Amino acid sequence: MSLAFQPTPPVLAPTSSGEQFPVRRVFCVGRNYAAHAREMGRDPDREPPFFFTAWAETVVPDGSTIAYPQKTSNYHYEAELVVAIGRSGRDISVENALDHVWGYAAGLDMTRRDLQLEAREQGRPWDTGKNVEQSSPLGLIHKAGDGDFTPDHGAIRLTQNGDVRQEADLADLIWPVADVIAYLSTLYRIEPGDLIYTGTPAGVGAVVQGDEIVVSIDGLTPLKVTVGPPAP
Ligand code: MN
Repeated sequence: MSLAFQPTPPVLAPTSSGEQFPVRRVFCVGRNYAAHAREMGRDPDREPPFFFTAWAETVVPDGSTIAYPQKTSNYHYEAELVVAIGRSGRDISVENALDHVWGYAAGLDMTRRDLQLEAREQGRPWDTGKNVEQSSPLGLIHKAGDGDFTPDHGAIRLTQNGDVRQEADLADLIWPVADVIAYLSTLYRIEPGDLIYTGTPAGVGAVVQGDEIVVSIDGLTPLKVTVGPPAP
């Protein structure tokens, strides 16, 4: 048997200006809407935000059919605003944080909820619940300042086969985008190509094969994915 060792190809995310955004790392914020924190059995408060990560290769574009993953019977959607970083920095102030943003997109943080909750209860890492093949669908990235989008307010909504399941306003974020960037930059030097999934509103729930999931955020292009059969 011969092995062909090849470098991993870069993940290129489409943008509204036609450029390709090369994805470097994926950071996700936990429990950033109070009503979602409550539905997950936690008290919302303004403790520092917490983060988990996913591989760049979990990012898939709008229109994808995503495989239903292994080892779960409770695969959940989480609609999220995604921030695409365009400028490096660490220990960034809240005031300067938005200067580091390249653009914004609608996204999904798909989650093996059964594995995540089992890990949470046992004090173990969330990786197998959260970092799953094709689990970070990403809509078209809109360049910051283009169009009507503003990160401090605007409706965020998820539909499952046309029925509204999640509906909130970006103004409800416990940690707004600028605060998230500033805090993350105290833990890591953020770099161009990094994506930050900013957390999901209340109303998370399970998908089944054949579901059509749409995430809409005011001022951004909606993201649509279909849940496909298990990966071969
Ligand atoms: Mn999430």
